[in-house]
Amino acid sequence: MNAQNFIPQHAGSRPAFIEFEHASITYGRGDKAVQALAPTSLRIGEGDFVALVGPSGCGKSTILKMVGELLKPSSGNVFVAGREIGATPIRIGMAYQNPTLLPWLNIRDNVMLPLKIVPPFRHDYRAKRKSEFRDRVETLLAQVGLGGFGDKYPWQLSGGMMQRANLCRALIHDPDLLLLDEPFGALDQFTREELWSIMQDLWLSKKLTVLLVTHDLKEAAYLANRICVMSARPGRILDDSLVDMPRPRTIEMTFEPAFVALNQRLRAMIVDARGGAGIVNAPIHA
Ligand code: ADP
Ligand code: MG
Repeated sequence: MNAQNFIPQHAGSRPAFIEFEHASITYGRGDKAVQALAPTSLRIGEGDFVALVGPSGCGKSTILKMVGELLKPSSGNVFVAGREIGATPIRIGMAYQNPTLLPWLNIRDNVMLPLKIVPPFRHDYRAKRKSEFRDRVETLLAQVGLGGFGDKYPWQLSGGMMQRANLCRALIHDPDLLLLDEPFGALDQFTREELWSIMQDLWLSKKLTVLLVTHDLKEAAYLANRICVMSARPGRILDDSLVDMPRPRTIEMTFEPAFVALNQRLRAMIVDARGGAGIVNAPIHA
């Protein structure tokens, strides 16, 4: 593995799919104004897998909200698929730490939910062609190891299974872009590692662009091609490193010296960004 430093604006050789041009976010006004994100420039190539790590409150979720078109920059520009946000109808899938499955729907119907809402699927759904979507759901459920669980209800599933179903729901409408905000943060270590492998397989098979926020550096290095480390608030990108490790990656690879060295370097940077006062292994919560 070869971990290199990159200037933050670098997007490698891929065409830019997401581009931040000195984009900042300030929440509130006047005395209550809080600059969450300092003017930030960032380019993410189509099909890339980028992880954002950094101290709590540094603006990671804010960046996801900007990319997901939930927030407009206070200054600067954000472009997605070459257009200003809002201008291009790209499909986005999102998954957060809390799977928020609807308790009164079984897993199949929970996963199908975006198809009721997102065009062009909405039309087919309304036209009562729901059965056509069933194969689609079954295929996806099987891909994450939930084959045959479509009839179960969320309460019948473990936390790891619910998060698998959550990933299926985020992917059922074939998004161009997947936004993940600490999706595996509440799971135990072994379940989390299983989910990493599943997430990697999904990315390898679907070739979509993924932006992952995580406080787990091992997770970032296992899953991502690039890791951006952010400073404490107001957030800016301190470091942008390539994770040049072959795919598919395995847990065994995370014990290799180059992987461990990358982890230690990033960890030192985050401890520093937190003001150096952090307990070494304390998780950095969102
Ligand atoms: P992270 O995900 O890195 O933990 P966030 O992006 O959620 O951080 O938040 C960045 C900073 O902006 C935090 O200090 C947070 O308190 C503040 N913030 C987030 N959302 C709002 C909001 N709607 N109004 C005011 N402040 C906010
Ligand atoms: Mg957050």
